[in-house]
Amino acid sequence: MRAGIHPSYEPRTFHCYGCATEWETRTTMKATASDGKIHLDICSNCHPFFTGKQKLVDKAGRVERFRRKYVKADASKTAEQAEPAKS
Ligand SMILES: [Zn+2]
Repeated sequence: MRAGIHPSYEPRTFHCYGCATEWETRTTMKATASDGKIHLDICSNCHPFFTGKQKLVDKAGRVERFRRKYVKADASKTAEQAEPAKS
């Protein structure tokens, strides 16, 4: 084995934010957090492909922000549409 060209292959804990599952395996990946674990948003335990159930993957409240934006847009639209109907 040539020295200095191989990444370090060591045991590491993976943690899934989606379902809070943790498992240990060996990888060349570096830890993504200060706790020494690799954090994932979704894993094979909770991904819709494997579970067969629909799941909303919401990262940092994006769905909530989208809904707020379009509720506001809908409200202003209905107000505009209501005005000409009165006159
Ligand atoms: Zn998961």
